[in-house]
Amino acid sequence: MTTNSELLARARVHIPGGVNSPVRAFNGVGGEPLFIERAEGSRIYDVSGRGYIDYVGSWGPMIAGHAHPDILAAVKQAAERGLSFGAPAPGEVTMAEKLCELVPAMDMVRMVNSGTEATMSAVRLARAATGRDRIIKFEGCYHGHADSFLVKAGSGALTLGVPTSPGVPAVLADLTLTLPFNDAEAVRQCLEANVGEVAAIIVEPVAGNMNCIPPAEGYLQALRRLCDEHGTLLIFDEVMTGFRVALGGAQSLYDVVPDLSTFGKVIGGGMPVGAFGGKREYMEQVAPTGPVYQAGTLSGNPVAMAAGLANLDLISRPGFYEDLEAKTTMLVDGLRDAAQAAGVPMAFSQVGGMFGLFFTEATEVTCFDEVMACDTERFKTLFHGLLDAGVYLAPSAFEAGFVSSAHTEDDIRETVAAAADVLKTF
Ligand code: PMP
Repeated sequence: MTTNSELLARARVHIPGGVNSPVRAFNGVGGEPLFIERAEGSRIYDVSGRGYIDYVGSWGPMIAGHAHPDILAAVKQAAERGLSFGAPAPGEVTMAEKLCELVPAMDMVRMVNSGTEATMSAVRLARAATGRDRIIKFEGCYHGHADSFLVKAGSGALTLGVPTSPGVPAVLADLTLTLPFNDAEAVRQCLEANVGEVAAIIVEPVAGNMNCIPPAEGYLQALRRLCDEHGTLLIFDEVMTGFRVALGGAQSLYDVVPDLSTFGKVIGGGMPVGAFGGKREYMEQVAPTGPVYQAGTLSGNPVAMAAGLANLDLISRPGFYEDLEAKTTMLVDGLRDAAQAAGVPMAFSQVGGMFGLFFTEATEVTCFDEVMACDTERFKTLFHGLLDAGVYLAPSAFEAGFVSSAHTEDDIRETVAAAADVLKTF
């Protein structure tokens, strides 16, 4: 049998860092990344056959648990009809109808293959529609790895300490204005200092790439108002929050209507998928109805559509979100009690099925600077203590956690007990 270490050594020869996406390398926590051989329900299994209760869920898509039989059946059926046609197929129509039904602010949608493609395309469209070049993003928010977004970015860029990537031309980086999250006054000042220049504000409505930070009361509404005043488009990047915090996304939860939205993760059920969409007046400017070019060899892939539609069916069932939220609350409450009992100062956050945990004296964490002030050494100790006990958290203090409907109360009790054991040693 090939061991984890052998695989990692082989992987490092031909793949940078041995991984195809940086955070997977465990740079944020140290130690060897686990190679995963299979997954089922709430658990992933490494190449030695050891199982772990998984709170990463492939970074969000596996909201109904791993290897869900409905999704597998849909994928098998679709695969038997052919893997890709490069021509329109019925599943794409159903997917577009379903997304536009679930997300009221979305009149039209275009499928792509990743969250990065979705955000990149949405910003191109916003620039074209407004005839302006600048965009506003927020410190610690991550919108994929397109050049315009790798400026003070979150997620792996933050974990690796390169929030602004080399290779992004300065002329492009200069067009990305970065402001603190949850500070509407900073946005107002910025828009007033750049009148007529800002095409779009792009925001994760719940920040999930610098741990998990909910929007302050009224913050998203203020962004909407400011965008209206300045002729700037509001883009909600719901690649993570879409169908994670509520059916209909964060925009339905907070009742704010963006001009454009981006999705990914859950809508692919584990297959590579993204989508951007929004108001008809903008989406009709996308090729071929309009001049804004956007395309993809595998976009709307029939197998991916089948997986995504099966996932959307599962999450549309009555009570799905109530159950998911209740489980997530049970986990967060349990962890909070464990931290209190151990006398370890911590703060927690939760929106629907996503959660965050912070090692801080503060009672809540609201922006990037506060995240950076948290104790990442303690996170590493918790991470490895939990891993030893068979619980898999995201391998970085700057990522949100995800619960799935396949997590049982026993899974959560086991997780909390394991965390309590680790926290007692602090
Ligand atoms: N936007 C957000 C909010 C994300 O969380 C991510 C990925 N974590 C992306 C965009 C990029 O998506 P992808 O990795 O599929 O390109």
